[in-house]
Amino acid sequence: MNLELESRDKELLDIWRDLAKNRIGPLSQKVDQNASLFDELLDVLEKSELLKPFLPAELGGEGCGLMSLALLLEEVGKTSPVVAILMAQQVIVGIRALLRVSNHPQRQEWAREAASFRMLFPIAATESAAGSDLHSIETVCSACPADSDGSFTIRGGKSYVNQAGRARAFLTMARLEGKEPPSASMFFVPRDTPGVRIGDALLTMGMAGLEAAPVEFREVMVSADALAGVHGFGYDLYNQIMHEMRIAIGAIAVGISQGAFDEAAQHTKKKKQQGKSLNTFQSLQWRFSDAAVRIDGSRMHVWRAVEQAAEKNPVYTFAAMAKIFATESACAVTDFAVQAMGSQGYLRGSLSERLFRDARFLKIGFGTSETLRNLVSTRL
Ligand SMILES: Cc1cc2nc3c(=O)[nH]c(=O)nc-3n(C[C@H](O)[C@H](O)[C@H](O)COP(=O)(O)OP(=O)(O)OC[C@H]3O[C@@H](n4cnc5c(N)ncnc54)[C@H](O)[C@@H]3O)c2cc1C
Repeated sequence: MNLELESRDKELLDIWRDLAKNRIGPLSQKVDQNASLFDELLDVLEKSELLKPFLPAELGGEGCGLMSLALLLEEVGKTSPVVAILMAQQVIVGIRALLRVSNHPQRQEWAREAASFRMLFPIAATESAAGSDLHSIETVCSACPADSDGSFTIRGGKSYVNQAGRARAFLTMARLEGKEPPSASMFFVPRDTPGVRIGDALLTMGMAGLEAAPVEFREVMVSADALAGVHGFGYDLYNQIMHEMRIAIGAIAVGISQGAFDEAAQHTKKKKQQGKSLNTFQSLQWRFSDAAVRIDGSRMHVWRAVEQAAEKNPVYTFAAMAKIFATESACAVTDFAVQAMGSQGYLRGSLSERLFRDARFLKIGFGTSETLRNLVSTRL
C-alpha cells in the first residue's frame, strides 16, 4: 500500500485543515446546541468551495476521488462530525452517484449545486421496520412505468432522512410492487413533489444537526428522469453507495478519535495532580498509546479500503472492516478522552464530550457493526 500522498492532496489537506479548524470547528458547538445546521454555517460551507475539487474537470473541478475525501473528512471530523457526514453525502450521492447513474437532464447543474451545498442530497432508504433488512421495506413503486410517459408512482414512508427539511431531492429506495424475490429501484425524488410530507426533526443523543426526520410518500408521481440507474437494480446501486459511505464514515471516525485524543493530550499536559502533570502517570501514558494504536490502525483500514476501491477490486469487505474498526475505535478513544479529562471531559462545551456522543451513532448508521460483521464473515 502506498502511504505517500499525492502533492495536490497535500496542498488540499493544508487548505482543508485550516478551514476545518478555524472556520467550521468554531461553529460546531452551536450546531450541537441548536440541533440544527444554521445559515451562517451553510454560508461558510458555500463560500469555502471545499467540495469543488470533487467535481469532474468538465464541471470546473479536479476529479478528486475517495482518498481526497478521506483526508477532508478526517480533518472536518476532528471537530464537526455532523458537517463531515453532510459532506460525505454531498460528494458520494450528490456528485459521484448523481453523475454516474442519474438520467436527469439537469444532473450536471445539480452536481455543481451539491458541491456548493446549495442543494442537499440525503439518502431515504431505511424504515422503522426495515433498518438492517432492506429487503423488507414497505415503500413501493410501480413495477413498470405507470404511464406512457415513463413516470412512476411511489407510496410509503421513511423514518429517518438526514436534513429532510432542507434537501433538494432524496435518493429514495422503493421496492417494485408485487415482485418476488424482492427487487427495488432508487429515485432522486425532489422534495417539492406533490405528496411528499416531511415530519418533525427527531431529537438524538448526538450528531445534533443531522436534522433526521421522517418522510412520507403519498402516491408520489415522479418522471422517468427521477430513476437512478437501471429499474429493478436499486439494491445493487444502494450497496455501491454504501461501500463508499462506509469508507467515508471510517474516515470521519478517525477524525473523531484524533480530535478527542488531541484535546485529552493537551489537557493532561497542563493539569497537575500530586505536583506532576497528569501525562507523566504511566497508567495514562499506556492508554494514550492504546488510543494512538487504534487511531493509526483505523486510518490504515480506511486507506486500504480506498486503495482497493481505486483499483476496482471488490471493496465490500475492506469497507466493512474499516467502518467496524474505525467506529468502534472512535467510541473507545472518546470514552478514554472523557476519562482522562476527568470532570472537565464530562461538561457540555468540552469537545470530547460532544465527540463521545457523536461517535456512538457511527456504530449504527450506514450498516450496524453487527450486520457488517455478517458481511465480513461471508467473505472470509
Ligand atoms: C440520527 C439518525 C439518522 C439517520 N439517517 C438516515 C438517513 O439519512 N437515511 C436512511 O436511510 N436511514 C437513516 N437512519 C437509519 C439508520 O441507518 C438505521 O437506524 C440503521 O440502519 C439501523 O436500523 P434499525 O434502527 O432498524 O436497527 P435494527 O436493524 O432493528 O437493528 C437493531 C439491532 O439488531 C442488530 N441486528 C439487526 N439485524 C441483524 C442480523 N441479521 N444479525 C445480527 N444483528 C442484527 C443490529 O446490529 C442492531 O444492533 C438514521 C438513523 C438515525 C438514528
